[in-house]
Order: sequence, then structure tokens, then C-alpha cells
Amino acid sequence: MAVVAIDLGGTRIKFGLVEKGRLLDSANVTVPSSDSFAAVLPVVEEQVAMMMQKAGVNAIEGIGMAFPTIVDSDRMRLLYKYVKYNDANDLDLLGWARQKWNAPLVMENDARAALVGEWQQGAGKGTDNLVMVTIGTGVGSAALINGRLLKGSHYLAGNLGGHQIIRFDGVRCNCGNVGCLESEASSWSLPERMKSDSRYAESAFAHKDNQAPANADFEAVFSRAEAGDAFALDVRNRSLDAWAAGILNLVYAYDPERVVIGGGVMHSAAVILPYIQQYINHAAWLPQQAVEVVAAQNPDWAGVLGMGYLAETPL
Ligand SMILES: [Zn+2]
Repeated sequence: MAVVAIDLGGTRIKFGLVEKGRLLDSANVTVPSSDSFAAVLPVVEEQVAMMMQKAGVNAIEGIGMAFPTIVDSDRMRLLYKYVKYNDANDLDLLGWARQKWNAPLVMENDARAALVGEWQQGAGKGTDNLVMVTIGTGVGSAALINGRLLKGSHYLAGNLGGHQIIRFDGVRCNCGNVGCLESEASSWSLPERMKSDSRYAESAFAHKDNQAPANADFEAVFSRAEAGDAFALDVRNRSLDAWAAGILNLVYAYDPERVVIGGGVMHSAAVILPYIQQYINHAAWLPQQAVEVVAAQNPDWAGVLGMGYLAETPL
């Protein structure tokens, strides 16, 4: 029997109808503009009904939902209220799933779901010791040790790789701390990091009116660096060093066999992967070639595939 897997992002909701790891059908819809999770439920009901009808499936045996926040995946509660859906914990989601589909609901953090998707059907196949890092607007992470998802006593374990401190005298992060991996090198912090550099005003990135630069994104930084722009090259290299330091910390913390990297910056995987692989090879106090650094294979659907696996086989 099939299960339904849902990956709730900030702007998109991805749906999958999954049977024995195979995606029977999928959908990708815009999140309703309301901040209420109650407003999302009718959208979920409608998409699930459409997928079931299309695939000729009359019943489902489980439903899995990935949330971009810390999730208590034993009691199926959100631990830090996700700003967009701060009413989610007030809703009886388990009762809702039971009433609608007579099916159990499994919830998990989205980075853990993506790791499970890559582990089962992507770049993590063949190993039970895996770290996944997603570098985009923020930096997400998750760890699998001996085939078990690492959760910890507050369901934080492995998830806060973006807020590990890589520079204790660094810049202020949105979490309130200073020098986090995210505040040093992620898409949200990049424009401010660039503008704080004295070379910025004279750089190719500067806008005439000194407003937010039009192309202060990693794609532009990498392509201008490639073309020989010295400022872009410096920004690129600092970012590479920040990510490499953060990933080395995760390697020391979780001792994986493989690190899977995903996220928006992977348009520049041809530069990022060999750099981080070499950094780990040279800097890690580990046997040579002990850790393989690879690109995610299912950047768009790993969360759905992982949630499908967790709904079929809770870890
Ligand atoms: Zn932080």
C-alpha cells in the first residue's frame, strides 16, 4: 500500500505518493499566503485526493510530513514554532490524519528527511554513516550514525550545523549568536557581508545608489571570480573556507563515511566539491580518503522521498 509524503518549505509544498520507495505521483504547489497551518490543511487534502485518484489508490497506510523546524518525531510535535505556521501545534494533526485517511502521521525535520531521501535513493546509498549539509538561504544539516537518524535529547542533534560557531568574533547571526556558519557564509548573509567590505563600493557588484546589489548572490560571485574579479575571488574563497571549516567540524562530530552537500550553491559544485574534499583530506585528523564529499542527487525531491521512507519504515 502507498503512503503520502509532504515536504513543507517556506514558499513551496512538495507532495509525493510513494510505494516501496517509488514515487507514483508528485505535485509541487505554492504555499497559501496565510500564515496559518490550518489554511494549509485543505490544500493538503485536495492534493492527496488528486494524487490518489490519478494513481488509482483507494487507501494509504501512512502520511509523512517534513517541517523546516525542530520536530519531536516521537510525540509528533514542532518544538520551535515555525514563524509561518505558529498554529501547527494547536491542531490535532494525528487526529486529522486518522480521520481523513485512517492513517498514522509521521513528522520529521526537513533536513533529516532530505538526508534519508539521499541515503535511500541518492548520493548516500551504500553507507550507514552519513552527514548531509544543505547550503542555500541558510545552512541545514542532519546526521545518520550506524543507520540511525541522530536526534538527541531535544531533537536538535545534527540539525544546527548552520549555527555552529566558526568565528567567535564574527558577525551577528539571526539566531542572536556571533560567527555562525550561516552568518559568515549563506545566501541571506552574503549581501551584508559583501557590503561591509571596503572594496564593495568600487566593485562590479555595487549599485549606483548603493542599495542592495542586484547580483549579490553566490552564482554571480562564483562566475565573477572565475572571470578574474579579485573582490569576487576573495568573497568566494572566504565562503569556501567557511563551508569547509563547518563541514570539517561536522566530520569530527559525527565521523561519517560520506558528506552529501545540497542546496542552491551547488550550481558551483565543480568548484565547491573538490575544494572541500581537498580541505578535508589535508586538514582532517583522519586516515587519508576516509571521508568522501559528494553532491546531492535529488536536490528537489530528497525530502519527499525521505518522508515516504519514514512513513513506510519509521526509523
Ligand atoms: Zn546562528
